[in-house]
Formats: sequence, structure tokens, C-alpha cells
Amino acid sequence: MTASARLLIVGPQGSGKGTQGVRIAETFGIPVVSTGDIFRANIKGGTELGTQVTEILDRGDLVPDELTSEIVRDRLSQDDAANGFLLDGYPRNVAQVGHLDEFLSGRGEALDAVLLLDVPRAESISRLSLRAIEQGRSDDTEEAIAHRLDIYERETAPIIDVYSERGIVDRIDGVGSLDEITERIVAALDARGLHVAV
Ligand code: ADP
Repeated sequence: MTASARLLIVGPQGSGKGTQGVRIAETFGIPVVSTGDIFRANIKGGTELGTQVTEILDRGDLVPDELTSEIVRDRLSQDDAANGFLLDGYPRNVAQVGHLDEFLSGRGEALDAVLLLDVPRAESISRLSLRAIEQGRSDDTEEAIAHRLDIYERETAPIIDVYSERGIVDRIDGVGSLDEITERIVAALDARGLHVAV
């Protein structure tokens, strides 16, 4: 069964947000909308969008806001996102928060919760090195990782303040077993009245 929830998961590279995002979305029966996954699928599929963004991703830079927001709007307009969704990797800066606000408010919707996965920098870097070996992502070079972490701190961390002012941020300790972290997130959502449907 599906429970309605409009969620955003945020955290530095290597915080495990992708993994936890999938778990939480499955639990709630909502789709994950991961901009990184969308870009990578397009690169792999050799689409026009893929060609457009390949070099940007390899450098660890951000894809232009307008383009990214348009892709997200299209994705959120699909039927399976009508009742809820979990955003991973978007919005990633304050401009994108504005784009998302405009889109959601136009539908009479708003985010219910922003899950911030808290992981010490040393831990996230060691997880990323492991991922580089396991998955061979072309943007998991030392240089691109450092660049992405810088962008995270400079551009993405400020969005937490914006959402904190709205009282929708749940800070989750991201160190522990996968199951423990999932349980912490489910408990935080439960406390907001967002219950897993059974
Ligand atoms: P990570 O969190 O490890 O950086 P992601 O899969 O979230 O990995 O993103 C990979 C890349 O995709 C980013 O470095 C960026 O180039 C691009 N990207 C993803 N989301 C966005 C976004 N919201 N705005 C601009 N670029 C994005």
C-alpha cells in the first residue's frame, strides 16, 4: 500500500543518502527521484541530454539549474509521483529550492520533511573511496570528489537553513548499520505523522 509523503533526502557525498533514499521510498511505496541517477542513465543511454551533461558530471560541477529543474518537473508530473516522492540530489542550491517551491505550490503541495544525513567528513571520504573501487563511477576521482564536497558545503548546506526555518528538517545520525539508520529515519517521519502504511 502507498502512504503519501513528499520527502527530500540531503547529505554530503558518501553520506549514504542514495541507499537510504531507496529504502525509505520502498517503505512508503513512493518513487525515488534522483537527479544523479537520471543524468547517469542519460549518459549511459547516449541521449542528447547525456551528451550535454557528461563533462559537467565528470568534473563534479553542477548541471545548470534551469535544465535540472525542468527535468525534475517532468519527472514529478508523472502519475506515480502524484501521491508522493522522495527527492535525492535535488534541490542542491537555493535557486533550485525556489524552482521546486514554485512547482509544488502550483500544485497545492509542499515538502513534508527534509532528511539530513549527518556523517563526519572523514567517514564520508572513506565510504567514497570504497565506492570508487566498487562502482567505478567516473566522477569518483579524488579531484572530482573534493570538488563535489566543496560545492556541497558552499551551495547545498545553505538549503538546510531555508528548510529549517520551515521546521521540516530532521537531522539523522548517518553512522551505524544500514538498518539502524533506516529505523532512525522511519522514527523521525513517524514523529511527523508520516506513517508507513501496512
Ligand atoms: P553525489 O551526491 O555523490 O555528488 P549525485 O548522484 O547526487 O552524486 O550527483 C552526481 C552529479 O550529477 C553531480 O555532481 C552533478 O554534476 C549532477 N547533479 C545531480 N543533481 C544535481 C542538481 N540538483 N543540480 C545540478 N547538478 C546535479
